Order: sequence, then C-alpha cells, then structure tokens
Amino acid sequence: MKVIRDLSSDAFGSLSRGAQIVTSSHEARGRPSGALIPRRNSLSDEVYRRLKSLIMDGSIPPGMRINIENVSRQLAVSPTPVRESLARLEADELVHKLPLKGYRTTDLLDQDGVREIYDLRLLLEPPSARLAAQRMTSEWADSLRQEMATCGRAPEGSDYEAYQALASHDERLHGLILAVAGNAMVQNAFARTHCHLHIFRLSYVDTFGTHTLREHQEVVDALVSGNPADAESAMRDHLSASRTRMISRFDRPPVR
Ligand SMILES: [Zn+2]
Repeated sequence: MKVIRDLSSDAFGSLSRGAQIVTSSHEARGRPSGALIPRRNSLSDEVYRRLKSLIMDGSIPPGMRINIENVSRQLAVSPTPVRESLARLEADELVHKLPLKGYRTTDLLDQDGVREIYDLRLLLEPPSARLAAQRMTSEWADSLRQEMATCGRAPEGSDYEAYQALASHDERLHGLILAVAGNAMVQNAFARTHCHLHIFRLSYVDTFGTHTLREHQEVVDALVSGNPADAESAMRDHLSASRTRMISRFDRPPVR
C-alpha cells in the first residue's frame, strides 16, 4: 500500500486523468452553468469516492492535514468539488475542519473506542432484532433477502476498494433491521455513531468477510421466520464475534 505523506505524490493519477477530460469539456467551451450540474455532481461524487477510499485504507493516514489547493492541483479539478467532498467527509467524521487551515483526517478508534462502540451496539441492536422479528411482514422479509443477495461472496483482498461492497452491505443490513424495528430514535442514535466507517477503517482482513456473511445469514433466517428469541441471540452473537475480530487487531501489528 502506498501511504501519502504530503499529497504531492501520484496517488491521484487515475482520477486526475479522468477529471481533466471532464473539466476541459465544459470549461473550454464556456457552457452556461446550468448545463454543468450533472457533470459537476458526478465529478464531486468521484472526488468524494476517491478521497474516502484513500482515507479508509490508510493511504491518507490518520491525523494528516489536507490542503484544498494541494488536492485540487493533484486531481486537476477546481477547489469546489474538493471542498464539497471534504464537507461530506466531515459529516462522515473522517476529517475535521481546521480554522483557516483546511482539513485534517480524524484519528482511528483506539481499543477503548472499539469497546464503547460495540457496547452501544449491543444495547441497541439485539433488542431491535427481537422487535423486528415480531413486526416481520412478507415485504420486509423480501427486503432482507434482497439485501443479502447484494453481497453474495466475501471480498478477496484487504484494500478498501476490495471490501467496500461488504462494508456498504453491512451498513445497509443493520440499518434495515433497525427500520423494521421501527424506533426512529434508535435509528438516529445508531446513524450518528458512523460505526461502520470507523470499524472498517481500523483494519480489514479477507477472512472477516466469510464470517460476517455467515452471521448475517443466521440473523436474517431468524428474522424472516419470525423468531424473536433467535433473532436477538443471532444479532448478539454476530456483534460479539465482530467485536472480538476487531479487538484482536490491537494484539498484533496492523495487517497493512
Ligand atoms: Zn454486520
């Protein structure tokens, strides 16, 4: 893995080349601004996706200052999509804004932080899974099965590009179960933790995916069969196993 130390390396090369095509097509021709919105949105999305990926897999390390001008120069885009992307990354709690100094990537969770985030999840999610099983309908069951079908196999590789499909599925599935349970306050509290980003940013090894998908299937099987006790215990088992996997990360050198 290539760690970026000063945002002056060539890590943005592929996006830079693509972005040059996009910007030249509208800037050189001087189209009215209204015609640019779809391109600008897609460019901003691409800058966001690329920066997020670099932060998630540690290429941009925790605690690193990100200068908007430097990034926009590296990506060959104007500062606007970079600024928009960094605002979104701040909402994700992957960067903090520094007064008059741009942005800085946030620190990784430490061991206590991991324990606390799982303590909270264990308070919220197993009882929610029990409730969700009690409220199960054929429509919700179809939604759960469809979500499981979005991630049929474990990722191969430990870079964020490889495992982001699993991370997204994990976030959607847990969110869906809370939606079935139907407590908006719990859903909001869970969303504010950004737990999936924080946990997946810590480390990922390719054996995690197999365990995660098997545990998810057990949770979903209990839910769609309308078994509250099994759903609660399957969710508790999944979170406990996930916590053990993440805590073990602190007992050995990082895999990257
Ligand atoms: Zn999960």
